[in-house]
Amino acid sequence: MLEYKLYINGEFKDASDNAVMDAVNPYDRSVFAKLAKASINDTKSAILAAREAFDNGVWQAKKNEERSAVIKQIADKIKENSALLQELEIKESGSTYKKSKDDMFLTYRAASTFAKLALTDLNETLDISKEGVSKNLLIREPIGVVSAIIPWNFPLQMAMWKIAPALAAGCTIVLKPAPETSVSALELAKIIDSTDLPKGVVNIITGDAEVGQEMVTNPLVDKVAFTGSTEVGKIIMQNAAASVKNVTLELGGKSASIILDDADLELAVDGSAYAGYFHNGQCCVAGSRLILTNKNYDEVVDRLKAKLAKMKIGNPMNKDTDIGPMVSEKQQKRVLDYIEIGKKEGAKLVYGGGVPKGFETGCFVEPTLFADVDNNMKIAQEEIFGPVLAVIKAKDENDAVRIANASSFGLAGGVWSKDNERALNVAKKLRAGTVWINEWHLLNDKAPFGGYKQSGVGRELGIEGIKAYTEIKHIHIDEVLDRKKKFWYNVTIPQD
Ligand code: NAD
Repeated sequence: MLEYKLYINGEFKDASDNAVMDAVNPYDRSVFAKLAKASINDTKSAILAAREAFDNGVWQAKKNEERSAVIKQIADKIKENSALLQELEIKESGSTYKKSKDDMFLTYRAASTFAKLALTDLNETLDISKEGVSKNLLIREPIGVVSAIIPWNFPLQMAMWKIAPALAAGCTIVLKPAPETSVSALELAKIIDSTDLPKGVVNIITGDAEVGQEMVTNPLVDKVAFTGSTEVGKIIMQNAAASVKNVTLELGGKSASIILDDADLELAVDGSAYAGYFHNGQCCVAGSRLILTNKNYDEVVDRLKAKLAKMKIGNPMNKDTDIGPMVSEKQQKRVLDYIEIGKKEGAKLVYGGGVPKGFETGCFVEPTLFADVDNNMKIAQEEIFGPVLAVIKAKDENDAVRIANASSFGLAGGVWSKDNERALNVAKKLRAGTVWINEWHLLNDKAPFGGYKQSGVGRELGIEGIKAYTEIKHIHIDEVLDRKKKFWYNVTIPQD
C-alpha cells in the first residue's frame, strides 16, 4: 500500500488530526494508496507558509532567469519521472495508457513553455506624456499568495497549468488537487521538493470542499485560481467576493462540433468521435454536442455507430485500450443517470447506454450515442462529463450556429469543412474561447485558454496566463522640478 503525506513549507507531514483518505482505482475499485487528509489547521499552515515565503521575498525577488531555471528543473524532473507519474495517474483516474502518456508529455511541455515565458519582461514604459514632463512606468508585480484548486480529469496538467505560470510571475502557491487524484499531485510534491525551489513557495495539500473553502476565504490569500465545474465555480466566486479576491475560473462546457455539408466525412466523423469520447468525455472541452445538417445526418450517425462498435473497452493500463473506466463510482452513476434522462426526454438511443458486459467490477460506461436530440433537452444543455454524444439536426449553417450558441456555456467549439474560409466565418460566429477547424482537443501552451459565458472568467496559458498572476502598478515619475509648473490646488489641468 502506497502512503502519502501533505507537503507544507518544504516538509512532508501527516494531517494534524491524523486523518487519512483512500485512493481508489476505478478499474477494479481497489484501494491502492492511503493519503494524509488535510484539516482546516493544516490548510491554514500551508497558506501561512506560502504567505511567509511570499513576504520574505525568497521567490518574488529572484530575477526572471533564476525563476526560469527552477521551473525548467521541475519540467526536466517531471520528464525523468514520467513512467511512475503515468502509472499513478492511470491507477487513480482510470485514464488510458495512451491518454496518460500524452498527459506526461503535456505536463512537461507546459512547465518547459512557462520556463521560457518566465524570461519575458512584462514591464512597460507608457508613452502618454509630453516629453520631459513625466515618465510613466507600468510594473507587473506578482499578485501574492495563490490558492489553486483543480479537478481530476487531467491531474498533472492542471497542476502544472497553475504552478508554472504562478511561479513564473513570482507568486507562492497552495495547490489542492481533487480528492480522486491526489496521489499524482503528492508525487509531484516530491519532485518539486527535489529542486532548488525555496521552501514554502509551493505547498500541496489534499482534501475536499471544506479545505477548498478555507483556501478561498482565508484573508492571507490574494488570488484563487480554480478549474472545475461551473456549479462550484459560482460558489467560489461568491466566497471570494467577501474579501474581493482576484479569481480565475476555468469551468465546464457543452461544446458543439458542427459538420458542414461540404466536410470530408471520414475526417469529420473520426474527429467528432475524438472530440466527444476522448478520455470518456471527461474533458472540459469535449465536443459533446454534434450538430449536423440534413444532408449528412443519416450517414454521419451510421458511421459514428460503426466507429463506436470498434472501440476497445478494457484495462486502462493496456496500450491498446480506447475506453477505460470513469474516474469514480460517483461519476459513473452521474453519467448513467443522464442516459436515463436522455431516454425519457425522447432522444433516440443509437448505441451504448449502459455498463459494458464483463466490466461490472469497474466504473465503466459504454460509449453512448443519442440522435434526434432537441437542443433544449437536458442532455444537450447540461454538462454530463461522460462518453455521451448528443446529435442535433440543424436546418442549415446559420441554424447550426444558432444552436451551437444556444447554451449557457462557451468553452470551445469546432467546425468541419473542406473550405477553410467558410469554416472560419462560422468559427468567428461561435461564442467560445477556443474553436478548432478540422481538429479538436489540441491546445497550445502559448495560446490563451478559457471560456465565454458560464465557462469561466479569465485566461490561462501563454503570456496572458502569467499576467493573470500579476498586479499592474503604475508609477508616475514627474520630471519637472519646478513648483510654478505644477498644476496643484487652484490651477486647472492644461488641455492639449
Ligand atoms: P468540481 O467542481 O466538483 O471540483 C473541482 C475542485 O474543487 C476539487 O478539487 C474539489 O475538491 C474542489 N471543491 C469542491 N467544492 C468546493 C468549494 N465549495 N470550495 C472550494 N473548492 C471546492 O469538479 P470536478 O468534478 O473535480 O471536475 C470536473 C469539472 O471540471 C467539469 O465541470 C469540467 O468541465 C471542469 N473542468 C474545466 C476545465 C477548464 O479548463 N475549463 C478543465 C478541466 C475540468
